[in-house]
Amino acid sequence: MDERHLQMLMAATGDYTGGIDGDLGPKSRAAMTAVETRHKDAYTFDPTTTTDHRRETAAAQACLNQLGHDAGTVDGWHGVNTAEALNAFLFKAANGKDELIDRKPTANFAGAVTIPTQSQVASVYGQPGDQIKARLTTIELPFDLRIDWNLRQRTRKITVHSDCATSLRAAIIAVRDHYGAAEMERLGIDRYAGAYYHRKMRGGSSWSMHAYGCAIDFYAQPNGLRVKCPQALFCGSAYQPFLDIMEQHEWLPAVRLWGKDAMHFQRARL
Ligand SMILES: [Zn+2]
Repeated sequence: MDERHLQMLMAATGDYTGGIDGDLGPKSRAAMTAVETRHKDAYTFDPTTTTDHRRETAAAQACLNQLGHDAGTVDGWHGVNTAEALNAFLFKAANGKDELIDRKPTANFAGAVTIPTQSQVASVYGQPGDQIKARLTTIELPFDLRIDWNLRQRTRKITVHSDCATSLRAAIIAVRDHYGAAEMERLGIDRYAGAYYHRKMRGGSSWSMHAYGCAIDFYAQPNGLRVKCPQALFCGSAYQPFLDIMEQHEWLPAVRLWGKDAMHFQRARL
């Protein structure tokens, strides 16, 4: 977490009145303590027993959540949710309005016709919140994926909508069968970056496909929300079988749907 950004966040929450100088002196430390005290129920760990870096990230997450920019769990790990919440905060601070991300469909990509369009997901999958929560299921893979924002951590469990679970499990197993464990890790395809998550669309006001449990992200950093081909990593030729396999299993790559956000795959058409 950039120290200036943390100071800007703590200024926005009213905890900090010092300079935005990137120097975390006594005023900044006192502000961080105030944030930690106020949000202690949201913290998943004790911020006084960790590194400065993780502590600062957690304070920023708590401020972002308070300011209405959903950074996710206050865990001190700087993942894609934290990064995008900070982007949203900075955009608004600089421009005085929310960033709007254009998701115009790319030409000639229909996707599988057996799955709902984005405008049908509420009637097919249910309403985000309690309805969706009641229909979630957790798939278990026969191998581990790495957690994208904390690579020492691994998981083989992914929570998605029960209508989307079988096809997702089959897709990831088919990807693994194609690449093998070592190549999947070398390419970063095994970096799982989140599936079900109750939140609004980034740079938009409607519910994210993640809130319906019909979306999954992989390897966020080089496959950003605003990054197009050929700059996004998943646009590279080594990744096309990955995208093909996901698509064949009805999990459509965003980079083929709207030409950006290559980390993102969803079981919904545009
Ligand atoms: Zn996503």
